[in-house]
Amino acid sequence: MTLTRKCPICGKPRSSEHTPFCSTRCRDRDLMQWLQDGYALPGAPALDDLEDSPPARGSQDPDDFSTG
Ligand SMILES: [Zn+2]
Repeated sequence: MTLTRKCPICGKPRSSEHTPFCSTRCRDRDLMQWLQDGYALPGAPALDDLEDSPPARGSQDPDDFSTG
């Protein structure tokens, strides 16, 4: 059984010291990605949804086609 454990960040052979990464650098990168993913909350807040929508006017075509 030959399982080639590699660093998921850069693909280099992982280090037993920083498993499952090859170094602290890659470990930090993974952590950063994880944090950034946490910031992106699912479902953006719809603030404009509560705003007063403009009154839906009827079919009032502006007679503004007469040119000249
Ligand atoms: Zn790495």
